[in-house]
Amino acid sequence: MAKESKENLARRFGKVYAILEKTYPDAKCRLEHGNPFEMLIATILSAQCTDERVNIVCKSLFRKYRCPADFAASPPGQLENDIRSTGFFNNKAKNIRGACSKIIGEFGGKVPDTMEQLLTLPGVARKTANVVLGNAFGKNEGIVVDTHVLRLAGRFGFSRHADPVKIEQDLMALCPRKNWALLSHLLIFHGRAYCTARKPDCPECPASKLCPSAGKA
Ligand code: SF4
Repeated sequence: MAKESKENLARRFGKVYAILEKTYPDAKCRLEHGNPFEMLIATILSAQCTDERVNIVCKSLFRKYRCPADFAASPPGQLENDIRSTGFFNNKAKNIRGACSKIIGEFGGKVPDTMEQLLTLPGVARKTANVVLGNAFGKNEGIVVDTHVLRLAGRFGFSRHADPVKIEQDLMALCPRKNWALLSHLLIFHGRAYCTARKPDCPECPASKLCPSAGKA
């Protein structure tokens, strides 16, 4: 396939964005949270787990553990048991305890609000940091690239890369900064509604006329 010019790509991106924004006016983070700390814990738990399951687990979790100190001081096995149903619970519990200890020891008990500081917390990579910054602090520092965003960026031809960091850079170059957080929500909603991994519904997809993968994905 011939390489699309930068101008065409930018124009096409803008049109796709407008269609998605119109199609999903309620697109937002589906992880329920009341503050940055809850957002951080929910995001760590969401790895390899559905948002629905994380929301169920967090409902009782945040009644039992109200602050970083509660998590950091939890007896061995207890936190693991409380988050068991989210999967990979040993690793997640270790990361949550480690992150909470660091938040207490180095950040005065508050979740830091910069990419640089967030990345020092155990269990926090760029994707988690972007979720927390974009949704709990309202800061557009980057774009969350999860499995849906990764798949759709490829199908829409917004990126030719497979590496999430490079995909993020390509999307950041195409999308105005003020829309970075919303872009990933829109792509995630579209990935669930039409452009699923196994069976994309191209005939019904509202963006099919602008998608190079229509009928081929
Ligand atoms: S046309 Fe098909 S492949 Fe392209 S975005 Fe829509 S559902 Fe996905």
